[in-house]
Amino acid sequence: MSMYDVILNEEELKVKYQAREFVKSVLPSLLRQMDREEIQYPTKYIEDLGSQGLLGLRFKHESGGRELGWVAETSVIEEIGVLGPALGCLYSLPSIVGEALEHFGTPDQKEKYLEPILRGKLFCAEALTEPRGGSDFFGATCTAEKDGDRFVLNGQKRFVVGAEGADVFLVYAKTGSSTSDPRQTISTFMVEKKFGVQTKHVYGLMGSRGGGTGRLLFENVFVPEENLIGSLNSGGDIFNQMMIPERMTSAAGAVGSARAGIEIAAKYSTRRKAFGRPIQKFQAVSFKIADSITLLDAARSLIYSTSRHIDTNKGLTNGPIRRLVSESKKFATEAAWTIINHAMQIMGGIGYTNVYPIERFLRDIRLMSIWTGTNEIMNLLIQHEYFDELETQVVEKKPRDVELDAIGAEFTEEKIFE
Ligand SMILES: Cc1cc2nc3c(=O)[nH]c(=O)nc-3n(C[C@H](O)[C@H](O)[C@H](O)COP(=O)(O)OP(=O)(O)OC[C@H]3O[C@@H](n4cnc5c(N)ncnc54)[C@H](O)[C@@H]3O)c2cc1C
Repeated sequence: MSMYDVILNEEELKVKYQAREFVKSVLPSLLRQMDREEIQYPTKYIEDLGSQGLLGLRFKHESGGRELGWVAETSVIEEIGVLGPALGCLYSLPSIVGEALEHFGTPDQKEKYLEPILRGKLFCAEALTEPRGGSDFFGATCTAEKDGDRFVLNGQKRFVVGAEGADVFLVYAKTGSSTSDPRQTISTFMVEKKFGVQTKHVYGLMGSRGGGTGRLLFENVFVPEENLIGSLNSGGDIFNQMMIPERMTSAAGAVGSARAGIEIAAKYSTRRKAFGRPIQKFQAVSFKIADSITLLDAARSLIYSTSRHIDTNKGLTNGPIRRLVSESKKFATEAAWTIINHAMQIMGGIGYTNVYPIERFLRDIRLMSIWTGTNEIMNLLIQHEYFDELETQVVEKKPRDVELDAIGAEFTEEKIFE
C-alpha cells in the first residue's frame, strides 16, 4: 500500500486513481515514438488530459480547475511521472503557466488563456532560459520595448519544452534599464506563436525526448500591452510564484518515474535466478530495493509536507516555503537518480538494453537535477533561507542554548572565531 492511500482524503484519492487509469490508457507506442523522436509534440495526450479534467487541478472551477490543493496535485503528478519527464512536463506546463495567470492575470487574460489551457484546447509553454544562461534569471537579455500600445520583443530563448507545439508562450523579457535594481527590470508576457515567434528544433536530447524542446526567436515580435502579466517590471515576483509549481512538479514527477523503474527491477529480481536462487535472495540485491523504497517514501514525505505547507500559506513564496520547495526538488530528483541506478544494477546487462525501459528512465531522470533550476541553485536557496530562519529563530523564539550542555562549555576563552 502506498503511503498516500492512508494520508489522502477521499477526493484526493479519487483524482489520484483517475490519473492512474489515465496513465494506463496511454499507448506504449506514444512513448516509443517520442523516444525515437518521431513525434515532436503529443497534441492528443494534452487534449485527452484536458477533456478528463485532469489539468490544473488546484485552479478555480470557472477556469477549468477542480479547486483541489497541492496535496492532490503532487500525488497525481507522481502517477503521471510514470510516463517519464517529457509527458510529465507537458502535463505540468498548464499548472506552471497557470500559476502566473491565476495570481497576476487580469480577468480577460484568465478567460482568454487560462481556461482554454486547462481544458486542453490551447497549448502553452514557458520561456525563461536563454542561450546565455538559465540560472542567472535576472541577467536576461531578451528585450521588450514599449512602442505605443504594444511591446516589441527581440531576443532568443532556448530549451523550451513544447516549443514545437505550443500556441502561446509565457515569456520573460527585460523592460527596465540596466541602471535599475536587476530584480525590477523584467516583465512577463503571454506571447502567441502567431504574433511571429519563430521556433527551431535544434537539440539532440539524451532523454526526455518528444516534448518539442526547442529554441524561440523573437525578431520585432509585436505583443499587445494587454498581454503583459501583472505590472511592468514585476517579472521577479511572478518568477518567484511560478517556481512553486515549476519545482514541485519536477519533484513529484521524479518520484513517479523512480517508482516505475524500481518496480520493474523488484519484480525482475523475484524471477531471475543466479547460483540456483532468485537474485532477490541475495542481500546485495534486496538491500538496494530497501534503500530505494526508503528514498521514495522519504521524498514523498517531504513533498507531502511541502504541499501541505503551500496549501496552508497560499500566496507565500519566500521563507520556509522556498526552502521546502527547493529541498523537495533537490531531494526527489537526486533520490530518483539513485533509485534508477539501483534498478539498472539489479537487472544486470539486460537493464542496459532497450528491452526494458530502465535505460530510458536513466537518460530521462538525469535531466531532472538540471532543469527547473539546477540542484546547485536549489542548494543556494536552501542555505540562504535556512540562515535567515536561524537568525530570526534566535531573536524571536529563543530555543534552549544547547551549547551550554557541553562539559567544557565554560571555557569561553577557547571559543575563538577569528
Ligand atoms: C531538456 C530540457 C528542457 C528544458 N525546459 C525548459 C523550459 O521549458 N523552459 C525554460 O525556460 N527552460 C528550460 N530548460 C532550461 C533549464 O532550466 C536550464 O538548462 C537550467 O536552469 C540551467 O541553465 P543553463 O543550462 O543555462 O546552465 P547555467 O546557468 O549556465 O549553469 C551551468 C552550471 O553552473 C552552475 N551554476 C550557475 N550559477 C551558479 C551559482 N550561482 N552557484 C552555483 N552553481 C551555479 C549550475 O548549477 C550548472 O551546474 C530546459 C533544459 C533542458 C535541458
